[in-house]
Amino acid sequence: VTEKPPAEDITPEDVFIAVKTTKKFHQSRLELLLDTWISRNLQQTYVFTDGEDEELKKRMGSHAINTNCSAAHSRQALSCKMAVEYDKFIESGKKWFCHVDDDNYVNVRTLVKLLSGYVHTQDIYIGKPSLDRPIEATERLADNKVRPVHFWFATGGAGFCLSRGLALKMSPWAGGGHFMNTAEKIRLPDDCTVGYIIESVLGVKLIRSNLFHSHLENLQQVPKSGLQNQVTLSYGMFENKRNSINMKGAFSVEQDPSRFKSVHCMLYPDTPWCPTQPAY
Ligand code: UDP
Ligand code: MN
Repeated sequence: VTEKPPAEDITPEDVFIAVKTTKKFHQSRLELLLDTWISRNLQQTYVFTDGEDEELKKRMGSHAINTNCSAAHSRQALSCKMAVEYDKFIESGKKWFCHVDDDNYVNVRTLVKLLSGYVHTQDIYIGKPSLDRPIEATERLADNKVRPVHFWFATGGAGFCLSRGLALKMSPWAGGGHFMNTAEKIRLPDDCTVGYIIESVLGVKLIRSNLFHSHLENLQQVPKSGLQNQVTLSYGMFENKRNSINMKGAFSVEQDPSRFKSVHCMLYPDTPWCPTQPAY
C-alpha cells in the first residue's frame, strides 16, 4: 500500500474501529456492514449507536454500544458519541483508534498495512482533509473573549485514525466527557473538534492519505485497478447525484447499489453468499 517499510508489526487485533451509527440506520446501513466487512473483523469493531437493538446485541454482544446520546443529528449529539468512542478506545488498551461512519466500507487488511508504517507510541493523526485549506474557527475563551484559530482536520465521513500515543495526550480535552465541552468551545462538529485538539491545542499535524474516501468526493474517480488497496470506501449523495464507486463485480448495481457486496466478494471470495469462483 505505502512505499514505507513497516515501522511496527501490528495485527488487526491492535486496531479499534469505531463505527458511528444511529438507530434509524440499523437496518438501512448497518446491516450491510455487518454482512460484509464487520463480519470478518468482529474482534476489533465496535458500533456506537443511540438506541437499544436486541438483534444487534445478538450479533455483536458487548461490541454494540448504546451511548445513550441523543438520536438527533445535532453537534452535541454527535460529539457525545465521539466522546464515548474515545473513552472506550482508551479503555480497550489497543494501539490504534480508527473512526468511520456507517456508510463506510473498511478494508482492514490495507488499514493494518497503512498503520504498520507508523509507530503507535508516536503522535499520529491520519486521514483525508475535507477542505483544501485549513478551517477557520473562533475559539471561545474565558470572560467572553474569543480567538481566531485555523487548523486542518480529517473528514469523519472518510474515516481517520489516531495512535494511542496521541490519543493519550488528548485526554484533558477529549476524555471523561471533556470532548463535548471542547466541541462547544469552537462550536464545530465532532471531526473538526478532533482536528482542533490535535492541530491547534497539541500542535500535531494531520498526515494526509488518499486511501480514505467519503461520498463528498466523486467516488467514480477511485481507480478500479486500485480498489483493493483503498482503506475506506463510501456511497451516498454528492452534488445531488447518487455517488458510488465504479466496479463490475459479482452483483449488479440494482442488487448492490453501494457496491460494498461486490467489493467484499473481491476481497473475501470464500464468503458463502458470494458467487463461487470457477474451479480450474
Ligand atoms: N448520524 C448520527 N445521528 C444522526 C444522523 C446521522 O449518528 O441523527 C451518523 C450516521 O449514522 C453516520 C454519520 O452520522 O455515521 C453521518 O451521517 P450521514 O451519512 O447521514 O450524513 P453526511 O455524511 O451527509 O454528513
Ligand atoms: Mn455519510
